Amino acid sequence: MPVLTPSPRRTFIWALSCVLGLMAQLSFARELRVVASFSILADIVSEVAGEAIEVESIVGPDADAHIYQPSVADAIAVADADIVFVNGFGFETWAGNLISESASDAVVVIATEGITPIEVGGSVDPHAWNSLKNGMVYARNIAASLSDIAPWLADQVNANAQAYVQRLESIDRDIARRVSRLPEASRTVVTSHDAFGYLAEDYGLTFLAPKGIDTDAEPTAQKLAELIEQLKNVDAAAIFAENVTSPALINQIALETGLEVGGRLYSDALSVRGGPAKSYVDMFRHNVDSILEALESGSARGSAEGRKIYGQPQLTAME
Ligand SMILES: [Zn+2]
Repeated sequence: MPVLTPSPRRTFIWALSCVLGLMAQLSFARELRVVASFSILADIVSEVAGEAIEVESIVGPDADAHIYQPSVADAIAVADADIVFVNGFGFETWAGNLISESASDAVVVIATEGITPIEVGGSVDPHAWNSLKNGMVYARNIAASLSDIAPWLADQVNANAQAYVQRLESIDRDIARRVSRLPEASRTVVTSHDAFGYLAEDYGLTFLAPKGIDTDAEPTAQKLAELIEQLKNVDAAAIFAENVTSPALINQIALETGLEVGGRLYSDALSVRGGPAKSYVDMFRHNVDSILEALESGSARGSAEGRKIYGQPQLTAME
C-alpha cells in the first residue's frame, strides 16, 4: 500500500526550501538598488515601489537639477544601481555622461515615455511632472519597469501604482474645479523660470517668467521690461519665488510692479525635511493652494484696485 502522508524529512526539506526562497526574494527586494535623478521623481518611484525598496535621489531637495554637477558618490550610486529612473525631455543634461562614465549596467527608465511634450520656442519643456496627468503616466511607467526587473513585486507595485493614480486623479479634479471658479482675467502667475507650462495647460492658467525653461540664463533688460509691461495689462496677478532659483529677480519685478510676492513655489525639487513639499502630492497641493490664494485675493480686490498696485515700472536699475 502506498504511503500517502509525506515523510517528516520531506516535509522539512519542502518547508526549508519555501523559507529559503522567501528569504531570497525578501532579501533581493530589500537590496534592489533603485536610483532616481531628482527628488520629485524619487518620491513617485517610492510611492510605486512601496516601503520595502529604498530609492536614492541624485539631485536632492531644494536643489536645481538643470545645473547639477554629479559627484563621485553619484557615480558610485549609479554604478551599483539595478535600475535608474530619469525624467528625460532633456532635463538632466548631465545624466547621459554620469551613466556612461560610471559603466553602470543598470536598466535606465525614462519616466516621460509616452508623454507628448510642450514645446517652448522650439525647445522641449522638460517640466512634465507639473501636470498631474503626466504624474499618472510616470507612475504607470515606473510600475511597468519595476515589474519587468523584479517580477515577484509586480502585484504589489501595480496595486500601489493604481491607488496612487486614483489619488492623483482625485486631486486633479479638485484643482480643475477650484480654478474654474476664477475669473479669466485673474489667472496670471509670475515665476522666475518657466517651469509651470504643463500646469498652465491643464487648468487654463497663464504663467509668465523672465527666464526661459532653463535656470542658467539671465533675462535681458528688454525681456524684463516687456514682462513688466505685460503685467500692467492684467487685472490681477500673483508673483512667486521658487525653491531652486535665487529670489533676486522676482523681488525686482515685485518692486517694479508693486505686486506682493506670494511666497515660494516648488517647481523642480521637493522641500527639505520639515518643508511644505516633502512629497510630489504635498508639493502640488502647496503650489496650487499658494497660487489660488494669491489669485483669489487679487481678483477679490477688483480690477480698478488691481491695476493701482502695479504702479509705473521703473527700469533705470536694469538699464
Ligand atoms: Zn526647471
